[in-house]
Amino acid sequence: MQNLNAIGVPTHYIKTLNMREQLVRDVEIIPLEVVCRNVAAGSLSTRLGIEEGTPLPRSIIEFYYKKDELGDPMVAEEHITAFNWASTQEIDDLMALTLRINDYLFGMFGAVGIKLVDFKLEFGRLYEGDMVRTVVADEISPDSARLWDVQTNEKMDKDRFRRDLGNVTEAYVEVARRLGIVKQQAAGGESVH
Ligand code: UDP
Repeated sequence: MQNLNAIGVPTHYIKTLNMREQLVRDVEIIPLEVVCRNVAAGSLSTRLGIEEGTPLPRSIIEFYYKKDELGDPMVAEEHITAFNWASTQEIDDLMALTLRINDYLFGMFGAVGIKLVDFKLEFGRLYEGDMVRTVVADEISPDSARLWDVQTNEKMDKDRFRRDLGNVTEAYVEVARRLGIVKQQAAGGESVH
């Protein structure tokens, strides 16, 4: 979040309070999940019959309506504007911000040997006087992104849990270690800075 703020992508993040808590701005959540994909996987592969791991001709953005009872169905811009979940201007903002974040994260993970296959983001409306800004209001983690080792294509994300592949914690720690978030893995716990 700090890195995104530093490149001019607004987020809800203010500061880290401790290992488990962050201070964030109070925003009105836009009821959409914005998914960005670089490589075919998951529901895109199932829905369109494209083999997992196939690079996409360009980054693809999809919108899902945040409604647990309905299983977060995929929706088109037509639904979003007709049902007033977001305005056309906000959709433009979501797409531009998501592509910018994708470029940044793709490079950041690529530099440590991780392929950013896809990820999900949520956004909120930040009211500042008469102004409303669209800001990222979510986490970015292996729980909401597909991260594959560049060399081996080994999954380093939540699919390890969802597909019963084992070594979930080890994979998450390895992502953190490569990013320099966890300095080293010592017996009995991680050393974190
Ligand atoms: N995703 C998420 N929360 C959701 C649905 C999807 O964080 O409620 C993430 C998922 O981890 C993946 C990307 O969005 O990185 C695309 O997910 P997909 O549509 O393939 O759905 P899946 O088959 O993973 O449920």
